[in-house]
Amino acid sequence: HIESSPLVIEDSFEGYPLNYFNLPLHYRDDLKSVLIPYGLVQDRIEALASRIFSDLHIHIPEQLICMCVLKGGYRFFSDLVSKIQNENRLRNDRSLPMSLEFIRVRSYVNDRSTEAIDIIGISDLSSLNNKHLLIIEDIIDTGVTMVALKKELEKYNPKTIHVVSLFTKRRTDKKCIFKPDYSGFEVPDHFIVGYALDYNEYFRDLEHICVMKESGITKYKV
Ligand code: 5GP
Repeated sequence: HIESSPLVIEDSFEGYPLNYFNLPLHYRDDLKSVLIPYGLVQDRIEALASRIFSDLHIHIPEQLICMCVLKGGYRFFSDLVSKIQNENRLRNDRSLPMSLEFIRVRSYVNDRSTEAIDIIGISDLSSLNNKHLLIIEDIIDTGVTMVALKKELEKYNPKTIHVVSLFTKRRTDKKCIFKPDYSGFEVPDHFIVGYALDYNEYFRDLEHICVMKESGITKYKV
């Protein structure tokens, strides 16, 4: 049975040296290491897709609303949904129909999260009433964003809410208030970028999950 809890990347693992990977020239000096190569991210998403497919098809004869939390979640969303589609394509015994929604919540300045959230993107949230929802998020750090988002969405009475996050962070202060139903990787308490995760709108155009150098953090600070 495929694991729904995250694959743990230990603190002792410092990542792979940059010179073993093809990286965009414009970011090479700003990164410390490759923490999770793109290929491994894909493998784990494929496994999550398979687990989500087998868990949710049973309970969900209707459509599952897959909700993409933009912008950081867009690559994960796109790859996860297409891997669930692969399951649908290859199996004759069960299936999981999906519809897609895209939302944005609050802004994220530098590397600290803010508590206020505002959902934009869905014109009529009451359409979620009595529906099955899968929230697809990039990373859960303190969990503040997801607690607030879930609370907001619960107001519209969806039938079920599941949350999948590609990453969860193992905070050194241990203060995380939310645990997703499905998670890809648990990462050490570093600021990670790549695969649509940004730092002030930089690094989304990077394939691998990387750890930044202090000098990179300073360079792109707003
Ligand atoms: P939380 O509310 O859980 O503390 O923060 C969640 C949001 O903060 C994520 O959706 C993401 O936008 C941002 N975030 C938290 N940690 C990181 C990180 O290590 N890298 C990036 N790029 N964003 C992060």
